[in-house]
Amino acid sequence: MLDVEKNDLLEKVTSLAKRRGIIYPNSEIYGGIGGFYDYGPVGVEMKNNLKRYWWKDMVDRRENVVGIDGTIITHPKVWEASGHVENFGDEVVECKKCHQRYRPEDIEGKCPKCGSSDFTEPRSYNMLFETEVGVLEGAKMKAYLRGEACQTIYLDFKNVVDSTRMQVPFGIAQIGKAFRNEITPGKLTYRSREFEQWDMQFFVHPDEMEKWFKYWMDERMRFYKELYRKQENLRFRQHPKEKLVFYAKDAYDVEYLAPWGWAENEGIHWRSDYDLTQHSKFSGKDLSYTDPKSGEKYIPWIVETSGGVDRTLLMLLFDAYEEEDLGDGNSRTVLKIHKDIAAYKAAIFPLVSNKEDITKKARDVFELLSEDIKVIWDDRGNIGKRYRYQDEIGTPFCITIDYESLENDTVTVRERDSMKQERIKIEDLREYLS
Ligand code: ATP
Repeated sequence: MLDVEKNDLLEKVTSLAKRRGIIYPNSEIYGGIGGFYDYGPVGVEMKNNLKRYWWKDMVDRRENVVGIDGTIITHPKVWEASGHVENFGDEVVECKKCHQRYRPEDIEGKCPKCGSSDFTEPRSYNMLFETEVGVLEGAKMKAYLRGEACQTIYLDFKNVVDSTRMQVPFGIAQIGKAFRNEITPGKLTYRSREFEQWDMQFFVHPDEMEKWFKYWMDERMRFYKELYRKQENLRFRQHPKEKLVFYAKDAYDVEYLAPWGWAENEGIHWRSDYDLTQHSKFSGKDLSYTDPKSGEKYIPWIVETSGGVDRTLLMLLFDAYEEEDLGDGNSRTVLKIHKDIAAYKAAIFPLVSNKEDITKKARDVFELLSEDIKVIWDDRGNIGKRYRYQDEIGTPFCITIDYESLENDTVTVRERDSMKQERIKIEDLREYLS
């Protein structure tokens, strides 16, 4: 294995992401727009797989969590109740010499660009994106693109209780877009202005808060440990007591060691009854819960797990990226990404593209496998080049259909990480790959 310098990793992953259709800068032909990214043909598959993986873990396998899909624009009062209109700030300082702007926590006394240590005092900016609902002048209503996805979960809490069989303790999960007018977007998708969050709000009786907080901390760390390869790059960071908001008793970030240092992947927050109480107050609607068994009426407390889909995918790319020396002056770049997240589970290679019976057999294999898994077709260039390409996008298996396949219905299956090749019967392929 070749050592990829930490300092180079962000650049290498950014270049690979662009070159191989994972992540493109948005509006690139117009010079780009800071903090907005598109996912290419490979990236969209990875991102969808990642979201499915989360949903399976957080919703499908649990009897006490259900999902919703809320809107991006809500009634503007939501953001007054949540405190975002008044205070959804980021602090910014400006270097007096080169006028570059930074978040105070991103500098260590010196301007990373020009080295000066002369900064302005920190100023606060509101990060909510504003928009207008309605078309007629005078009848337009100012509204906001949601600054965090979780607010729609609080808004729908009562609807979910009234329309399903759920009883506290239970959770509501959602994956959805959030928008923040970040002052210093950067590090590829790490800090974007439009991004996706995976959120779960777990509603509990106040007496059980401690227990469930601990439970979700353990569950979320297990989730990330199963997803990432390099376990030593994962840790919890407890928020210092003096930085906690008044209603929070505790908060932890799940952090991953990014090329620039420890970086937040997800927050696990003790939110007490703050959110439902605020929305009760601002809406005038009673959002308390009545226990159907004991008859007790109370505002449930909330354990929140709130993470970033784009951030997780980016960190998975850091986690998976390897350059390997193959001897004889050859090397390869390989993404050793979790097999469930890889864009394609297998690539289908007809050995040569101009032999009709080989192409036909390869098509049969493609059709057979695409019933269960996502496969990709590649008949361009020699097999070695095709392996290199699939390694770079992290395809776990490459299947070559050759002359021997025509004789005995077997194919060569080559595994990504070990590069081992095996001869497998076509009829056994589905089982082999699963
Ligand atoms: P940070 O301190 O890095 O700005 P945050 O503490 O404001 O993050 P939360 O409000 O807790 O973030 O949001 C939950 C999750 O949403 C984060 O853990 C992160 O994964 C993701 N997230 C937040 N802001 C961004 C962003 N600008 N771009 C991409 N993902 C983000």
